[in-house]
Amino acid sequence: MSTLSSHLMPTYARQPVAFVRGQASTLWDVEGRAYLDGLSGIAVNTLGHNHPALVAALREQVGQLIHTSNLYEVPLQAELADRLAALSGMDNVFFCNSGLEANEAALKMARKHGHEKGIAAPKTIVFEGAFHGRSIATLSATASAKVQKGFEPLVEGFVRLPINDLAAVEAAVRADPSIAAVFIESIQGEGGIRPATLDFLRGLRSVCTEHDILLMIDEVQCGIGRTGKWFAHQWAEIVPDVMPLAKGLGSGVPIGAVVAKGKAASLFGPGNHGTTFGGNPLAMRAGLATLAAIENEALLDNATQRGDQLVDGLRKGLASHMGSGVREIRGKGLMIGVELHRPCAGLVAESLRMGLLINVTQDSVIRLLPPLIIQSQEIEQLLEILVPLVRGFLEQSDTAQAA
Ligand SMILES: *Cc1c(COP(=O)(O)O)cnc(C)c1O
Repeated sequence: MSTLSSHLMPTYARQPVAFVRGQASTLWDVEGRAYLDGLSGIAVNTLGHNHPALVAALREQVGQLIHTSNLYEVPLQAELADRLAALSGMDNVFFCNSGLEANEAALKMARKHGHEKGIAAPKTIVFEGAFHGRSIATLSATASAKVQKGFEPLVEGFVRLPINDLAAVEAAVRADPSIAAVFIESIQGEGGIRPATLDFLRGLRSVCTEHDILLMIDEVQCGIGRTGKWFAHQWAEIVPDVMPLAKGLGSGVPIGAVVAKGKAASLFGPGNHGTTFGGNPLAMRAGLATLAAIENEALLDNATQRGDQLVDGLRKGLASHMGSGVREIRGKGLMIGVELHRPCAGLVAESLRMGLLINVTQDSVIRLLPPLIIQSQEIEQLLEILVPLVRGFLEQSDTAQAA
């Protein structure tokens, strides 16, 4: 199959396959070949493909109203905001269209909070390994030199610290009274499925409360049920001040949201922020239908059970390679990383040829993000493809190294 590239900016090294149809956890390409979806369009297709309740809701909404703008009341926004507030224990929501937009809003809130405290140049603590998006501000908050290169000067006002080192955060906050916010992913996604420990998250919560600093938790990838809780930080039984959401919230319809609590919930007033598309009725219906299906179909439990099944299967299948070849298998629910000792980006294409969609991040971490509706026998099928593939790859590289 040829690659369709003529007038597209070559921002992605795409796999040479185009999908034309999907059903639940399966996709079909133009030639009718089936693929098991182990990636959900990067944690987006929460309900898989062609989910009947989502499709019905969207069909109905398209026939009623797609967009009116934020110059008018949008009752579906209020409805989805109510749901998100109830699920998170937070107060107010601003709707936008993507993860970086939600994060931009959060970063603006951090600065506004700082200014209201009388800080002239407020700073935000960010972490090594972080990914927050590709706008100028969010790429500056991101830890990747690859993402930043060519787009300098970066936005100032970020202090970068190692993850899971509470003493470093405490020291930074004590040393610098201009710190207004801490910005962290509960589980780093692009950074290689690296979790913040629950103790670290709890520690951040108390440091932030003590110093009147906003705790902003980027749940764009790990939120919306992916880890078996509505939001991954809920495993630590804390509530952030600010929580950006996006990817999985619309099951494929573009949507972003920033949820805020307490003082943070009233930082934005008229004129402080805005969006043309954000919060349109179609996206709101997608969000409502996604949350309803997660609840009605007990998908939080399914994420936990299928995730455990997947990790068990990987541990058993790769047992003889643990510590030599496989560095670590980690994650929570259906957000799983298998870190190898060697770069393994080539596994993406090999897996595709075997009919399984996966991703590799940070060169050597196989990333699995299947839809939350995935069934037990599909997890078995995934393991039947992936385990021999990884074993073969490691044995091959062993031979190559020995030679
Ligand atoms: C994907 C992602 C973003 C950026 O989202 P976009 O919708 O691509 O702008 C931000 N933060 C995290 C944690 C992400 O995984």
